[in-house]
Amino acid sequence: MADLLLENIYKVYEGGVRAVSDFNLKIADKEFVVFVGPSGCGKSTTLRMIAGLEEITSGSLFIGGSKMNDVEPKDRNIAMVFQNYALYPHMTVFQNMAFGLKLRKVNAKEIEKRVKNAAAILGITDLLARKPKALSGGQRQRVALGRAIVREPNVFLLDEPLSNLDAKLRVQMRAEITKLHKRLATTFIYVTHDQTEAMTMGDRIVVMKDGFIQQVDSPATLYEQPRNVFVATFLGSPQMNIFEANLVEDKGLGIAFGEGHTASFPETKAKQLSDRQYIGERVLFGVRPENIKLASSGIKAKVDVVEHLGSETIIYAEVAGLDSNVIVKIPTDYDIVEGKELFLSFDMDKAHLFDAETKQSIMGVPDVNRVPCSVEGDDLVLNGTRAALPESIRQKFFDFTLRDLSEIRVPATEVRLEPAPDSIHIKAKVDFTVQGNDCIAFYVNSDAKDGYFVFRIKTSYFEKKMEEQGAKSLSKVIPAAGDEMDLYVPFSEITFHGKDGLRLNSREKVSDNTADCVVTTKNGKTTVKLAGNSLVYDDLGVADGDYKIKLISDKIGFVYDKKYAKKNKVEYVPAANAVSAKAYDEDRLGDKNAVFCAVKGFDNYVTAVIPATFSVYKMPVFKLVIGKDSFELIKK
Ligand code: ADP
Repeated sequence: MADLLLENIYKVYEGGVRAVSDFNLKIADKEFVVFVGPSGCGKSTTLRMIAGLEEITSGSLFIGGSKMNDVEPKDRNIAMVFQNYALYPHMTVFQNMAFGLKLRKVNAKEIEKRVKNAAAILGITDLLARKPKALSGGQRQRVALGRAIVREPNVFLLDEPLSNLDAKLRVQMRAEITKLHKRLATTFIYVTHDQTEAMTMGDRIVVMKDGFIQQVDSPATLYEQPRNVFVATFLGSPQMNIFEANLVEDKGLGIAFGEGHTASFPETKAKQLSDRQYIGERVLFGVRPENIKLASSGIKAKVDVVEHLGSETIIYAEVAGLDSNVIVKIPTDYDIVEGKELFLSFDMDKAHLFDAETKQSIMGVPDVNRVPCSVEGDDLVLNGTRAALPESIRQKFFDFTLRDLSEIRVPATEVRLEPAPDSIHIKAKVDFTVQGNDCIAFYVNSDAKDGYFVFRIKTSYFEKKMEEQGAKSLSKVIPAAGDEMDLYVPFSEITFHGKDGLRLNSREKVSDNTADCVVTTKNGKTTVKLAGNSLVYDDLGVADGDYKIKLISDKIGFVYDKKYAKKNKVEYVPAANAVSAKAYDEDRLGDKNAVFCAVKGFDNYVTAVIPATFSVYKMPVFKLVIGKDSFELIKK
């Protein structure tokens, strides 16, 4: 099995360049995943961390269930194909492909079998005796792939393998790599900055920007439901039109923009607005060029530039009051010429709205459902729905989680329609559905939450159902408006949050922050003696004796260690009752950071939640300040 799990991965290069931040991704066995984004967004760095060519600064990498952070590249059973696939010029194709196996002392018979097999898969059997200089660019690229195939890896990593080829060859090799993936039935991770490659090759695409994942989805879902303006404009050519508009509600929901133009949303689309507070506000409106048609009336426009591309015509149209042209893509129409006046009509069912500040999508399937909640006894309570909190989840709670908990976040992709262990059961009624290219979004009402609960289910799930039940059509198995549904949300897929959005569950089990101590009071001062540390306070008013000290993770203070402060050029502030801590990991929760560190006297590590401006990867040694409110004393 070659499934991959990347958990909370960060890469900080020496000198402080943060190349990858908080990268979380599950890749299924045999999946084809593409990392795409502009140059410098951290794609190659992530791939190289998977390969083991780059150290992981923090976070965990699992391949086939085993942690790989410290495993040598050669022992990861991974093959990597680069953009610059240096073939050895003095060796034949056969020798080039056999070289790596020879180094690994694979026997000659096995080498021959594997090389011939790979050559057959790639259609280069008759080139085996040639030298690289007698090959075309595409053939050379195939040999480079062959070199990887003969190693029979569990995972193929491909880093822009086609970017040195000319456009025509690129298109051809794109299809070949897709076929190769099917034939080899192995996990592929493919890096490219080319959105067309990403859209045509991947089962799933990971869109990255500035080291952060922007969205992970199937090509169709990314295209139909981009989460933010960046994703919306990065995928698609020509790119989505985005302009400022006022969101208005007159007879129905609509936009007003430019010099007196308006357009209104159909009712089911209007219902998808995430928050009615946007009504009357300035928002960003998005519409793809192919979702604009020419009409006999509507939005008046004048052709500024026109491109006839054979099968289609691209119009760059001026619309009064808009700063930039509106791009329209229509089937070829040679009557369209520069200067011509025409009317545009937007397909509002396929339009998008974004928050003008955050640039996040505000209409359509949300990423997560934010569900207000509380805890009563052993139960998590969501409005009228209850579920017992499993012990495995409680173990990941910080000591302040129950105190601060205000909502859970349920990803729209993590709702199941079949009973699942340790999950929340929600009874729901469908209000309406939205059919996507490869999934269906359900807008349901339930007892768990006011307003819609929204989730997406893959169409393939219903196709299987249809087969199992011998149903005649998909519509017979897909719940429709008014239907009741039983939903199951696994606890393992949700996150717990406080009022300020802070995540309140750790990714790992949290220790209890306790240690043995001896308490004595003399001359108005109480001393708490831990192995290695003595803490002194004004009289705490407790009897002398043996206690357990329990540190409260979010009440612990923090100061830099003197030596490290100097090295990192930050201010050193001495503090009373500061104990040395050596961190081994951290977990970013939002604007706070949970650090897990060793402190003298504590058998287990101590968890302290401190401002996220501090990272243990820059400064692994620091001091925890144990003030009089940072702990409780428990009599033994
Ligand atoms: P991409 O593959 O998306 O083009 P990279 O992963 O190569 O991006 O780079 C991400 C960021 O990390 C960039 O800002 C780049 O300059 C920086 N970077 C890459 N390699 C190194 C390195 N060896 N040392 C320092 N910074 C690096």
